Amino acid sequence: MTKNYDVIVIGAGSVGTPTAYFLAKEGLKVLVIDELASSGQGQNKAAIGGVRATHSDPAKIQICLQSLDIFTKWKKNTGTDIGWKGGGYSFPVYRETEEKILKSILPIQKKSGLEIDWYESNKIKKIIPGINKKGLIGGTYSPNDGQVSPLLASESFTNEAVKLGAEFRYKESVIDLITEKDKSIVKGVKTSKGTYKADSVVNAAGAHASDICKMAGLDIPVNPDSHEAGITTPVKDFLDPLIVDLRPGPEGKTANFYFGQCSEGQIIFCYTPIKIFPGEDRDSTSEFMPIMARRLVNLIPRLKNLTIRRIWRGLYPMTPDGIAVVGKPSSVEGFYLGIGMCGQGFMMGPGVGKNLSNLISKGKPCIDKNVFDLLSPDRDFYSGKKEALK
Ligand SMILES: Cc1cc2nc3c(=O)[nH]c(=O)nc-3n(C[C@H](O)[C@H](O)[C@H](O)COP(=O)(O)OP(=O)(O)OC[C@H]3O[C@@H](n4cnc5c(N)ncnc54)[C@H](O)[C@@H]3O)c2cc1C
Repeated sequence: MTKNYDVIVIGAGSVGTPTAYFLAKEGLKVLVIDELASSGQGQNKAAIGGVRATHSDPAKIQICLQSLDIFTKWKKNTGTDIGWKGGGYSFPVYRETEEKILKSILPIQKKSGLEIDWYESNKIKKIIPGINKKGLIGGTYSPNDGQVSPLLASESFTNEAVKLGAEFRYKESVIDLITEKDKSIVKGVKTSKGTYKADSVVNAAGAHASDICKMAGLDIPVNPDSHEAGITTPVKDFLDPLIVDLRPGPEGKTANFYFGQCSEGQIIFCYTPIKIFPGEDRDSTSEFMPIMARRLVNLIPRLKNLTIRRIWRGLYPMTPDGIAVVGKPSSVEGFYLGIGMCGQGFMMGPGVGKNLSNLISKGKPCIDKNVFDLLSPDRDFYSGKKEALK
């Protein structure tokens, strides 16, 4: 049987769940379809929950400012605690190379209204208690950034969307789009269980977003690569900000690493490998923990007695320029994209959802259109322009 909706969202993840919430808030009849058993079970739950607006790309900055506004007010607006911890972000610096990179993007960050500054080592030592002082030059600190629990957030976006009338169908795969006029109009979806029609379809399919684009005749490059993360048992609260160490690791395998202490006391951590692992391999490796432990203890020696509770591996849905793809492709009507989130889909999700919902219901994004268009599906993904701070 064919059922009709105003909007169908493909994927109940970091992007799909807030998008459904904002669409339902606009009074639209929304259906969300996910092939997994519940919301947030794709890459959303692999994220360590860092949320910052301190990027170098102007569109990412504006989208994440909106995400921060949504996350920080969520408990007050809905009564649900999603683990928000507003300790900020700090990038400690030991080498001139990273000092130059971070100082070069400060002007654009400040011009975009971000509260971020460069601090000398004395201040960074206070912001990051116990940090290795040897060779520390200084670093940046942005107090308004923070962290949220990805699973609590996707569950809460889902619950609030359902209260507003949205329907969620799980364990159901989208296998094709219903299209007209040589794929230039999208009218709905075919799934493993049925057919659903809608005026608009949102592709929020994460690592599989390119496959959905192909169903509308679009070739949008979103290719997953895999990243590992882990979490310790809880310890007494001592660390406010999330930390990003941009230095390559001495072992020659890691580009940077980042970590923080969750609102419930666990230390949660992740690194970026120098040699990327393309594909969807989600098995943990034996080299992750020894490398990670050395990097953590080298930066903050007091972390040496922590007990690791769990490690995992998830995917970054990457684009060639490291920038997300958000908006409506000009060649297809009724089709919207919130894809290619790279390593920042959790922090971008609410801002992307709010803008897509505005675009669909009111014909324009909430942020400045010229800035929003930097994320356009029509752009040249191979222009060579890449984001400085990924
Ligand atoms: C180790 C690690 C740490 C990270 N840390 C952070 C962080 O601190 N902050 C941050 O912002 N980001 C972080 N990320 C990145 C973040 O997890 C992703 O960018 C984000 O989850 C992508 O969101 P999404 O909605 O695009 O994809 P997902 O959350 O994966 O949602 C896509 C959904 O679409 C569904 N789907 C796909 N195809 C179909 C289909 N054909 N039919 C039906 N359903 C379908 C999937 O089942 C999935 O649930 C991290 C990632 C990893 C791996």
